Amino acid sequence: MKIKDPKTFFIRTYGCQMNELESEVMVGQLKRRGLKRVLDEELADLLVFNTCSIRDLAERKVMGKLGQLGRSKMRNKLIGVTGCMAMAKKETLFKKLPHVDFVIGTNNLSELNNVLDDVVASGKQQIRTEGEYDALDYTIAEREHKIKGYVSIIRGCDKYCTYCVVPYTRGQEVSRPHEEIEREVRDLVQKGYKEVTLLGQNVNSYGKDRPETGVLFHDLLYRLDKIEGLERVRFLTSHPIDISVQLMEAVRDLRTVCEFVHFPLQAGSNRILKKMHRIYTKEQYIEKVALLRSIAPNAKLGTDIIVGFCSETDAEFEETYQLFDEIGFSVAFIFAYSPRKGTPAMRWQDDVPEEVKQQRLHRLLELYEKKAQEERLELVNTPMEVLVEGKNKNGQLKGTTRCWKNVILEGDDSLIGTLQMVDISGFNHSTLIGTVKKPLIV
Ligand code: SF4
Repeated sequence: MKIKDPKTFFIRTYGCQMNELESEVMVGQLKRRGLKRVLDEELADLLVFNTCSIRDLAERKVMGKLGQLGRSKMRNKLIGVTGCMAMAKKETLFKKLPHVDFVIGTNNLSELNNVLDDVVASGKQQIRTEGEYDALDYTIAEREHKIKGYVSIIRGCDKYCTYCVVPYTRGQEVSRPHEEIEREVRDLVQKGYKEVTLLGQNVNSYGKDRPETGVLFHDLLYRLDKIEGLERVRFLTSHPIDISVQLMEAVRDLRTVCEFVHFPLQAGSNRILKKMHRIYTKEQYIEKVALLRSIAPNAKLGTDIIVGFCSETDAEFEETYQLFDEIGFSVAFIFAYSPRKGTPAMRWQDDVPEEVKQQRLHRLLELYEKKAQEERLELVNTPMEVLVEGKNKNGQLKGTTRCWKNVILEGDDSLIGTLQMVDISGFNHSTLIGTVKKPLIV
């Protein structure tokens, strides 16, 4: 027998920052309904899994977890699956997991409470995956952090990279009105937030679907920069083809915009880039990096790389390796390719043997670690601006630099939420260790 009147809920988020933000909105929705959030799933009447579909591993994790629930005594709880995997698998989820009560896609999340009403009233499974764009009310988000927050500015993607499910699970690009974004950021600042990260699958497309507003991504950055009390703006993710000179100038000139650009390369071979439908060549990518470095020399670069894409040869992987070495990324997310259902690449043979993918992954990760170590050594004895965000599990203060490095430092709780100028004295694995030099803002 399923629980009829849920009083408590547990939510688990898989995947990207956009999912984290959408989970924060769902927490707000459920709390407004009167449900209490619990952190132990055994104590919850309702379990919500906000899922990711970007990699096979992410999907397998959720399917494993849901399968396990079906075999345990917890199957009498109400169970909902939301997000990208819900969108990709739709009704088939009910066939595989008959104990799941509802499935809500990425463009129907605002219907969560209505769906819950229908499940409770009918006792039947419910599905909502047909929405085109969901004008979510972000103002009700119950945010995890109190100093820095995510702000969605554009949803969906029109790029159709051949390996990626996002255009199918999140739909076409839709920008939020700039007035709404500015209002949300102002509201966050009033609540004490110092940093926002603007989110979108491709933030650089912001505003192109609303030409009548005349506000493109860099214009939005200039508008947000005027908000008093806002200290930092970050943004994720940028498609290299859409990164404009104006954006680079904004990174150079604006007080709030952090000097970090996530600039996914994906592969260093032109044949593989074409097969991936990345719509730039290796030469164009190198040119953009050179331009960014000439306009904003302090900017650090982040990237994503996929190794072992369909038919990638050893020589083509070497091109990726060489380019990665030459460019020198400050942050990198490196993955072995895994085919995703519903993508064009599914039609091709996933013909790079797993062992070869793992060798390539390992080599590139080794190179990344070597470069990261060199960068960390360079940062020792450098003063850096740190936003103190809270404490780590050892009770030490933790924060981040403008270029997105984690720092731990000594000090008391009064520093939390302040900007400090910190001398970097060393590092522990990938975390920098710093000493406060002088407060920048209190
Ligand atoms: S740009 Fe490509 S990889 Fe990024 S979300 Fe769009 S389709 Fe996916």
